[in-house]
This record gives sequence, structure tokens and C-alpha cells, in this order.
Amino acid sequence: MRHIVNLSGGKDSTALAVYLTKKYPNVKYEYVFCDTGCELPETYEYLNKIEKVLGIYIVRLNSDKPFEFYLEKMNGYLPSVFARWCTREMKIKPWERYVGDDNVYSYIAIRADEDRKGYISSKKNVHTVYPFIEDGICIGDVEKILLESEIGYPTYYEWRSRSGCYFCMFQRRIEWVNLYKYHPELFKKALVFEKDNFTWIKGMSLLDLLYRGKEIEERYYKKHSKKDAKKEIEDEDDYNDKCCLICSL
Ligand code: SF4
Repeated sequence: MRHIVNLSGGKDSTALAVYLTKKYPNVKYEYVFCDTGCELPETYEYLNKIEKVLGIYIVRLNSDKPFEFYLEKMNGYLPSVFARWCTREMKIKPWERYVGDDNVYSYIAIRADEDRKGYISSKKNVHTVYPFIEDGICIGDVEKILLESEIGYPTYYEWRSRSGCYFCMFQRRIEWVNLYKYHPELFKKALVFEKDNFTWIKGMSLLDLLYRGKEIEERYYKKHSKKDAKKEIEDEDDYNDKCCLICSL
């Protein structure tokens, strides 16, 4: 039986890696990250930090082909909430290839205080395990685990709520505005992928978003004070269910 701990570069899956490593030091875990090649630089830095602090090796899986290849194959049709070909091609397929026909326990970092299922493989040899649910681990425990381990939170939490591709369509408008601030080169790359009516945000191109950046920020900060905005980004789970766990653990 293989034991696969799925990492996303986010807080929960990192806390799970720390938790399992400490709780079952004799289990030979495989720590796996599905790399689309379009992750945030902060995510790669965070993964390096996890490896260093925990003294583990993280297997980085990829699809062999870049995002541009699949985009062309899809005739320029950008991935969307309703057509998640990005996840299928760049995360699920590489992960299932890696697992093969071996019997595996796949450890998923859903917390006890969350109401979602996440990605469940249809392969019969994959047995999904939810240690945080089984052990009643909630958000406060995750924070404690990360702080005590000295890994802490990924730095992108300053401006974005989750890991994943820089162009992820699950990010909110304020996070797109923040992407432009923190990584203008990545924002521009995402903008170049937009063509005709294919836009990352329904009914709004990234160019339009840039023009409306100030207004988006004002509206956001009017609703949430600047002080609380970071916490708000972290807490807001309103679209968690739509984002599969293989992307956002
Ligand atoms: S993080 Fe977002 S864009 Fe990237 S594969 Fe997952 S759903 Fe697609």
C-alpha cells in the first residue's frame, strides 16, 4: 500500500503533511504536488520551505505539455468554472498516471469544519482518507500546526486566498487586481491568453478589469476594512466547493 499526501502549496495540505509526519513517523509517505507550470512564484518558494523544514522530498508531477499546448488544442477556449479542462489535463491525469494501478491511500486535507468533498478518484485502487475530518481538526488547529512547525503561511495569503495557477478563474476580481500589483508580468501573460469572447472573467476582459481596478478596490475595501481584508480573503470559502481539491487542498 502506498501513502500519498497531496500538497497544493496551500495552508491545509501543508498542515496535513506536518500532522501526518509527526503522528505516524514510521509511515513512508509520498508527498506529491501537481505542478501546472503556471503556479505562483510564492507557491514554489513555499514548497521549498516545506521540504527544508520537514526534511522531506516533494514529488512534482507535471503534464509534460505546457498550458499553451492544451489551449491551442481547445481552439483558444479558456478553462472556466464549467469547463475545467485545465484540472483534468494538468493535474488529474498526471496524478493518476503517477499512481498507476497500485493500491494507494490518498490523503486529503479537508478540515472537520468544512462542508465539501473535493476530488475523489474514480480509480478502484485509490482509497481516499480524510485525517482532519477523522480527528476533528479545524481551522484554528491548522494555524497552530503551521505556526508551531515554523513553516507558517504561504506569503501569497497577503493578497490571494488560495494556491493554484496565476490565472485561475476561481480568483475574485480583487485578487486579479492584486495579481497585477504583485506580479504584473503574470497578469500580462494571462491577458494575452484572452481572445475574442474568451475571457477569464465572465463578461469582462482583463483590460476592462485594469481600467476598473480602482473602483474594484474601493468597493472591496468599503465592504471590508483594510485591516480585515487579509483575514476576509483567507476566510471566504464561498466558492470552495467549486474548486476541486486537487487544485486547492
Ligand atoms: S488552479 Fe485553477 S486554473 Fe489551475 S488547474 Fe486548478 S482550476 Fe485550473
